[in-house]
Amino acid sequence: MIVDDEPATIHVVQVFLEDAGYSHFITTNDSTQALDIILKQRPDILILDLCMPGKSGFELLGEIRSDPLLRYLPVLVFSAAGDAATKLHSLELGATDFLPKPVDPSELVLRLRNALAFKAYQDQLAYNDRLTGLPNRQLFLERLSWTLRLAQRHSKQCALLQIGLDRFKQINDTLGHEVGDKVLKAVSHRLTTSLRESDTISQLNSGQDSISLSRLSGDEFMVLTSEINHAEDASLIARRLLEAMKLPLALGKLELFVTISVGIALFPQDGSEGSALLTHVDLAMAQAKLHGRNTYAFHSVETNTRSFERLNMETALRKSIERKELELHYQPKVDLNTGRIIGAEALARWTHAELGQVSPAQFIPLSEETGLILPLGEDMLNLACQEAVKWQKIGCNLPVSVNVSSMQFRRGDMPSIIRSALQASGLQPENLMIELTESLLMENAQSNIDMLRAIKNLGVQLSMDDFGTGYSSLSYLKRFPLDELKIDQVFVSDLPDDSGSAAIVSSVINMAHGLGLKVTAEGVETAAQMAALKSDGCDHFQGYLFSRPLAPPDFAALLRQKAHRSSITHKLSIAS
Ligand code: C2E
Ligand code: MG
Ligand code: MG
Repeated sequence: MIVDDEPATIHVVQVFLEDAGYSHFITTNDSTQALDIILKQRPDILILDLCMPGKSGFELLGEIRSDPLLRYLPVLVFSAAGDAATKLHSLELGATDFLPKPVDPSELVLRLRNALAFKAYQDQLAYNDRLTGLPNRQLFLERLSWTLRLAQRHSKQCALLQIGLDRFKQINDTLGHEVGDKVLKAVSHRLTTSLRESDTISQLNSGQDSISLSRLSGDEFMVLTSEINHAEDASLIARRLLEAMKLPLALGKLELFVTISVGIALFPQDGSEGSALLTHVDLAMAQAKLHGRNTYAFHSVETNTRSFERLNMETALRKSIERKELELHYQPKVDLNTGRIIGAEALARWTHAELGQVSPAQFIPLSEETGLILPLGEDMLNLACQEAVKWQKIGCNLPVSVNVSSMQFRRGDMPSIIRSALQASGLQPENLMIELTESLLMENAQSNIDMLRAIKNLGVQLSMDDFGTGYSSLSYLKRFPLDELKIDQVFVSDLPDDSGSAAIVSSVINMAHGLGLKVTAEGVETAAQMAALKSDGCDHFQGYLFSRPLAPPDFAALLRQKAHRSSITHKLSIAS
């Protein structure tokens, strides 16, 4: 990192060093920002100008040396004032070396090389675990302070996962310390590999080392992750580590099954200081051992309970999907003018033997986070198409609407999945409507256009769900090949009294009609809401006022009854 108030000097120094083969540079000409940048980006070495406005190099050097985390950062100072007093003062303040300005390129390169070589040697001695090559306790503690400080500043969450081998003492006692060492090496390799995978899988890799493994002592390893969004991210890592240990370790001729127990503490919930977190993560690991080993435990009891409930639910959902136990209920879509059923939305329903009825608001997000939405979504699509064909057999030619979530959409294979569902069921494409939420469509709006066109080209209809809850760009709204827009129930529920919602609803209807879209209002519960929507010119509605989502036989019965009634009214009108 180079700090100099003159951009020209920074440029010259950087060119010298690039010629010498160095490639990653951090530069600033604002010395007041420098300390922040150092803390954030952690340079290996600092090249510092002494004479700068705002904050002088002396001041900055003083601050650097009084920060325990920066005490040993190599700092090469350079100055146009080459007098003995300046030199002495900077060395006194803790400069690693002094260079006069103008800088002699070869001298700069050599001094930099020497300072870095010394640092590398020191780091090697001080920071590496001899046996496994992993960072040791010292380096871990320094990283922890860095990480917590940054997390505090940017209000981020972090997690500590302490890993202990189960019954390691037994291995040492019965097989000897040499085997014990081999086990530790093999375990560290296994864990490192698994972390690298979970890093990309959980997409935690926002920084260079957003996740790192250290060996603190004996059979105690520690994972530090600097960016997690919720506790689940940490349990995901723990589960992957546990999974990775399921296969035996191959130690020469010996094959050994070794399991681990993992404790998890979260920052800031479980402690705002490193010391508190370390105590708590240790307690959490003890809990995991108490729970029978080969498992993980959070420090906080509530997090633990929630995490295991979720895990239970995930396992149950996985099984139910495999056994095709999920069902669809159908909510009629009704024409506001004629009162006729003009279609139905398919809504997933899950009843589990132990968990009971689980709401889609719970299991849909869970299935999205775990990837289960892919098989689930495909099943639901197939089921809905088959059901719509059955309606035709009782004389009702109605389109069925199916919800598609962002993960399904982003996979890019939606067109072929839809095509096979249509083929397998024999449903005509125009009798299938795909619902995509506003927030899904507006995220990466530009790149979504192609996918929407590809789906639309199959001949199916497209609907934008939950309109008003995301942030729509009107220019995209115009370019998406949509057929329908669904006004979210939050606006409908305030009708007709809330003048704000009323204004929004009537403008949305006008705008949608201007774009050639039909409008469906969701969640209509009262006659007053229906009347307001009708007077605004809304086309269709769904809601408890007309019907709740119904099991397939009930929906079919409703269709028959309506068909019967309308044929009676039809006959009556002919008779009169
Ligand atoms: P959504 O697509 O916006 O569905 C409308 C939700 O409003 C449904 O909730 C429906 O039961 C409910 N609803 C309908 N009329 C009324 C009413 O008058 N009052 C009130 N308070 N609510 C009403 P549900 O079935 O719980 O589904 C919730 C969400 O879960 C759906 O919102 C949809 O986003 C998602 N979902 C459901 N099934 C599937 C599915 O098969 N695949 C995907 N990807 N998502 C699904
Ligand atoms: Mg929907
Ligand atoms: Mg909706």
